[in-house]
Amino acid sequence: MNLTNASQEQLQNLEQTLAAEFSTIKAKNLSLDLTRGKPSAEQVSLSDSLDGILKGNYTSKSGIDVRNYGGLEGIPEARELGASILGVPASNVLAGGNSSLTLMHQVMTVAHIFGLNGPESAWNKQSSVKFLCPVPGYDRHFSVCEHLGIEMVTVPMTSTGPDMDKVEEMLKADSSIKGMWCVPKYSNPTGVIYSDETVERIAQLGKIAGDGFRVMWDNAYAIHDLTDNPVQLANIFEACAKAGTEDSVIQFASTSKITHAGSGVAFVAASDANLAGFKKSLGFITIGPDKVNQLRHVNFFAEEGSLNAHMKKHAEIIKPRFASVLKHLEEAFGDNDLGAWESAEGGYFISFDTRPGLAQEVVDMADEAGVKLTPAGATFPYGNDPQDSNIRIAPTVPTVEQVDEAMQVFVLCVKLASVRQALKNA
Ligand code: PMP
Repeated sequence: MNLTNASQEQLQNLEQTLAAEFSTIKAKNLSLDLTRGKPSAEQVSLSDSLDGILKGNYTSKSGIDVRNYGGLEGIPEARELGASILGVPASNVLAGGNSSLTLMHQVMTVAHIFGLNGPESAWNKQSSVKFLCPVPGYDRHFSVCEHLGIEMVTVPMTSTGPDMDKVEEMLKADSSIKGMWCVPKYSNPTGVIYSDETVERIAQLGKIAGDGFRVMWDNAYAIHDLTDNPVQLANIFEACAKAGTEDSVIQFASTSKITHAGSGVAFVAASDANLAGFKKSLGFITIGPDKVNQLRHVNFFAEEGSLNAHMKKHAEIIKPRFASVLKHLEEAFGDNDLGAWESAEGGYFISFDTRPGLAQEVVDMADEAGVKLTPAGATFPYGNDPQDSNIRIAPTVPTVEQVDEAMQVFVLCVKLASVRQALKNA
């Protein structure tokens, strides 16, 4: 379907055909959902043996009675687990409760209000505090900034990560920029893996930026590969150590999309100084994390053989869903300019760009036909996609058949909205 050279008459005919198809689909009263970036029931079931795994043995190998208070940093074996996911020494990892988002919010709050390196380092000592947000990005990162009153400035994502020329330029020009959000592997939503050059340039940012600059390196999809030979993400911790900027990056991960999403273990990894600064404040918030659950996770992965073996089981469930989405997009838009997408090889999302000005309309039309999509604009700070073109597709929860059905509706909506726009502009 190529709209660029189509005559008015051809467009009108096309509009009628597609509108008729749309009416037929609407009459089916579908109820499908491509909004939720969470594991399916089948996926969480892979980890059900967590339940009861301790069999009454509550003492960790390191000799800790995990039932009791204490151990702010988490048990050593759980810190090792986080270290193996993030590629850092275990001594630089804190293993916490179930949510990395909570840890991110807490680190941001400490950095903003209390200071990670003493009260004078608090960002809010300055009249203006800004954060760089590569877009499209993860809406909950943006909500953290909004919650703390930190102004967000956008920078475009490219196929190799954030546009680093722009990032460097902005940091040189504005010392009130205190940090940047990053999802370096299978980025939410674009699926991009940051290139080695991008990682290296991010490790250098601490030299360009003003005092207190912190990259929030949210490696939520660090081991969520869908292929056997995944592209390796360069190690930011080592790159920073080499550049002498180890305080400028704070890393996060969790087992949310590895075991049970609501009852996993989350990790923060940081330089000695950052971790010490964070722990000082964390000690006012909690006496210690859920160490029983940490031990359950340690034992569970020991039984699974390896993290990798476990993640392969997830991949087998997710792969056909991704394949269905990509097949529909390729068939409908592979030979035209009605949409653009990255074919992600891991993570949870496929990001789709309509022609400018159509995302909201497509989301509304799909809703009318019984297919729920993530709200247009959600992938941008303040819900504002200036191009109104980005839509995040999350195919993990529905069955393969449901994904297939939902994608038929999706591509139809994109086509119909594009034809109507072309008619208006003709
Ligand atoms: N970071 C990213 C990039 C995510 O996509 C998600 C979940 N959608 C999270 C963090 C949430 O992680 P957690 O469950 O550990 O809070």
